[in-house]
Amino acid sequence: MYLTTPIYYANDVPHIGHAYTTIAADAVARYHRLGGRRVFLLTGTDEHGINIERIAARRGLSPRQHVDEIAGAFQALWSRLDIQYDRFIRTTEPDHIRTALDLWRRLQGSGDLYRGTYEGDSCTRCEAYYAPEELVEGRCPIHDLPCEHLREENWFFRLSRYEPALQQLVAETDFVQPVPRRSEVLGC
Ligand SMILES: [Zn+2]
Repeated sequence: MYLTTPIYYANDVPHIGHAYTTIAADAVARYHRLGGRRVFLLTGTDEHGINIERIAARRGLSPRQHVDEIAGAFQALWSRLDIQYDRFIRTTEPDHIRTALDLWRRLQGSGDLYRGTYEGDSCTRCEAYYAPEELVEGRCPIHDLPCEHLREENWFFRLSRYEPALQQLVAETDFVQPVPRRSEVLGC
């Protein structure tokens, strides 16, 4: 079985939330290994984004120096907690870049990518957009920081093309578990 933790965002050193999800994944992996199953446990760091670039600049480091340090801190913690992962992937590694580019080219080839614009209020710390009703007096509900109004031209994935097939997969198989989550995914 294949198991993954979130690929943690390399903006800062790990905290107890990172430890929680990784210990939980490690426990699940150990349980299945004890049952004689082949298990592959993945964890790692996501090292791209404007936020990382800004934090590195504030620290007087290059993005590369910053993410090397943070990835090292994650690895040191997993070693200290005896997390038995099979691979620690960093999104700056050549084989991640190669695979991401291959996927991108395949999506372009199949006509699944299109250009569009997205506009909204964004918190750079969250790297996420918020709907107006989610903001607290115009500020990020998590960081209590002012959001930036951004309008960006971007690439979009033509998910609508796959809607009927995905609905069928979720509704008629055990692809999503537990069962109550299925209607959540189907939005009904
Ligand atoms: Zn935020």
